[in-house]
Amino acid sequence: MKFFYSDTFRLGILGGGQLGRMLLQEAANYDVRSAVLDPAADAPCSAICHEFTHGSFQDYDTVLAFGEGKDVITVEIEHVNTTALEALENNGVAVYPKPSFLRMVQDKGLQKEFYRANGIPTSPFQLVENRSELEVLNHPLPFVLKSRKGGYDGKGVQIIRSQEDLKSAFEGPCIVEELVPFEKELSVIIARNKQGETSIFPLVEMEFNPEANLVEFLFSPAEVNTQVELEAQAIARRIVEAADFVGLLAIELFLTHEGALLVNEMAPRPHNSGHHTIEACTTSQYEQHLRAILSLPLGSTSLIQPAVMINLLGAAGHEGAVHYKGLSEALQMPGVHLHIYGKPHTKPFRKMGHVTVTDNNLQAAQQRARTLLQLIKVESC
Ligand code: ADP
Repeated sequence: MKFFYSDTFRLGILGGGQLGRMLLQEAANYDVRSAVLDPAADAPCSAICHEFTHGSFQDYDTVLAFGEGKDVITVEIEHVNTTALEALENNGVAVYPKPSFLRMVQDKGLQKEFYRANGIPTSPFQLVENRSELEVLNHPLPFVLKSRKGGYDGKGVQIIRSQEDLKSAFEGPCIVEELVPFEKELSVIIARNKQGETSIFPLVEMEFNPEANLVEFLFSPAEVNTQVELEAQAIARRIVEAADFVGLLAIELFLTHEGALLVNEMAPRPHNSGHHTIEACTTSQYEQHLRAILSLPLGSTSLIQPAVMINLLGAAGHEGAVHYKGLSEALQMPGVHLHIYGKPHTKPFRKMGHVTVTDNNLQAAQQRARTLLQLIKVESC
């Protein structure tokens, strides 16, 4: 039997961005040899993996060739070629998450149908093939329109409030969803291994910038009552058990004003809402992902200290070789943990790094995070 720490063992990762890079940092602790596939030659993983393949993770032949001979394959992005992954699975390669699950999450319409079929609470929806079907549907305003495929970071989501908005509605297959007047957006991350063991991280709360409509802070623990925390855990368990899921799954939720939870969407990989677990939890989401896909026992998810995470986004109007301002001042503050992803070029709103602030007092961490948001600038030289 080949052990995960043997020099012939290979973990293949589709995608070489920051999530893959933080996974590699944990893989190094377990002495797991890694191979990464990414379309960018200078991807954040390229300099720190054992083997780097420059190529498309959406291309059948590239994924098949990359996967052959690997012991375990995983992803740091869900938009990958699942047909090639299925072929690899049939050839005996362990692929986690399963290709069938990846195919389902790639399509927001299939995700919604999965929730409906398994009694998972989600906002009411209908599927449309194109804009003319949308017009015929004549859904009461306002509503949310989402492209079934390819959306991320809010791209692919439109809030339709008027007949005027309808004119610029997306063209292709979409879901039409009721607009949820939520009180909070929350995220819960669950891991499950092949043996069926599950483990859940404490709920995370997202705070939005009302002007930019971008997530500004993520904090843990979320300020919700125990009932909500338990309900989120029950939903997470129901999803992974219904799908016989193996790996790490992040589930984004709306908390309504009535205290109900609705699943918005999910991502079967380490997630932006779990970065803080590196410093704030006994086991990080990256280590937990590794443990789950290597069929190892899962670690404790207990919170060591409350934490607030801010993304370091490229400043508006700056494009080119990156220059970070304010880092020295930031690092003088207590509980500041800096992560720079190693992307040589910045673009407006590109995720270039993050900072986690830990403190025994969540409000103090929030205040410090607000200061850091003003202090650190991601600009071009
Ligand atoms: P993406 O996959 O691009 O992140 P999401 O489905 O998460 O897209 O939607 C992006 C944001 O749009 C959510 O975080 C939420 O703020 C808002 N949103 C999405 N769906 C709804 C909805 N049904 N009601 C209200 N707001 C929504």
